[in-house]
Amino acid sequence: MSKTFFIETWGCQMNDLDSQRLSGSLKLRGYRRVEDEHTADLLLLNTCSIREKSEQKVFSRLGELRAAKKEGSKIGICGCVAQRDGEAILARAPWVDFVMGPGNVGYLDEILDGGRRLALDFPEDRRYDYLAIDRPSATRAQVTIIEGCNKNCTFCIVPTTRGREVSRPITGIVAEIRSAVAEGRVEIELLGQTVNAYRCPQTRADFASLLTVVASLEGVKRLRFITSHPAEVTDDMIAAIRDHSNISRYLHLPVQSGSSRVLRRMKRLYTREQYLAVVARIRAAVPEVHFSTDIIVGFPGETDQDFEETISLIEEVRYGSLFAFKYSPRPGTSALRLGSPIDDAVASERINRLFEMHEERKRETLRAYEGRILPVLYEGPSRHDSEVLSGRTDDNWTVNFTGDLRTPIGTMLPVRIQQAQHHTLRGEAVA
Ligand code: SF4
Repeated sequence: MSKTFFIETWGCQMNDLDSQRLSGSLKLRGYRRVEDEHTADLLLLNTCSIREKSEQKVFSRLGELRAAKKEGSKIGICGCVAQRDGEAILARAPWVDFVMGPGNVGYLDEILDGGRRLALDFPEDRRYDYLAIDRPSATRAQVTIIEGCNKNCTFCIVPTTRGREVSRPITGIVAEIRSAVAEGRVEIELLGQTVNAYRCPQTRADFASLLTVVASLEGVKRLRFITSHPAEVTDDMIAAIRDHSNISRYLHLPVQSGSSRVLRRMKRLYTREQYLAVVARIRAAVPEVHFSTDIIVGFPGETDQDFEETISLIEEVRYGSLFAFKYSPRPGTSALRLGSPIDDAVASERINRLFEMHEERKRETLRAYEGRILPVLYEGPSRHDSEVLSGRTDDNWTVNFTGDLRTPIGTMLPVRIQQAQHHTLRGEAVA
């Protein structure tokens, strides 16, 4: 009888892909995935440490898993909290069988066979076995091109939990994408904490070159990438996007604040003016670009004036999507030396104002699509209605539409948008 595993993933796309790799290598070992932690032989919790709350949750969730697990089953902790607090976790929860950081995702076999309890190093060879990735989507493949980050934003824990930047050789990335496309995955999403800092360790090819190579691969219908750093945006990168219509016009470009004073304290390596200049350069070359961004509210010392500058920057860029968070002090980050966060009530007021503003903007964006015909990548029948097709636009909006249900998944269809809904669009496939 085959062994079973349960895996729970918190946090970002990088953690998602790490869990797909862990799941894939376990299936290669003959394990079967189960959704119920009570029946699993192996329970994996892939953690996130980007915000305080996610961290506090680890020990309470560990307690639940301990209570749920069956006799003889094992518990393993992965991800960024594991990397940062590995030894503390084993001290506080000695019944945890092993703790492995993001650098050791490719070493699960050794950990299971060798009884290694603590794997927190960042091996030179990350053993990125793309043939053993358990991809949940039939149409999309996420592909890590660079791990870690060499920046030192004062609020961020990532350089501690994911180490220094390590780019994968371009040959390995291309081979992985060819194999994914051969399996019908026509949408490729390139992943990295600072994806556009990519530099091939063998050929020194940069991100712009990689975009051009991947966009030119046969069968790649849509190419996305996340997360770009504004200071790493080059003219070649912009030209690559302009010159390849299958490179998504959805560009996630975290700004974090609209105040140059706060950006300096965050060590974001650009000023408000420089960020807006990057946006203008991209818009000049790719007018239809849809920007999304991340904003931190309540950073230590943020004044009313600073926040007004954030509001005015958001109004100026007119983001299609926006993710905003209250500043969360992270242990070991240099922002802790910049004083305490601003008053929580003020931070809540500011973030609610941002959300309201953006809700209005989002409604405008969605309404503006009504009557237009958009290319939609068909991903399968809608989860809510099997008589309805579902897919996503280039700028990542979900579209539920009527059409021929015999259409092969992965087909790019022209869809006339009939109605904007709260978060999605409704439409009909155009012959
Ligand atoms: S660029 Fe800054 S915010 Fe992004 S992962 Fe690196 S240190 Fe963190």
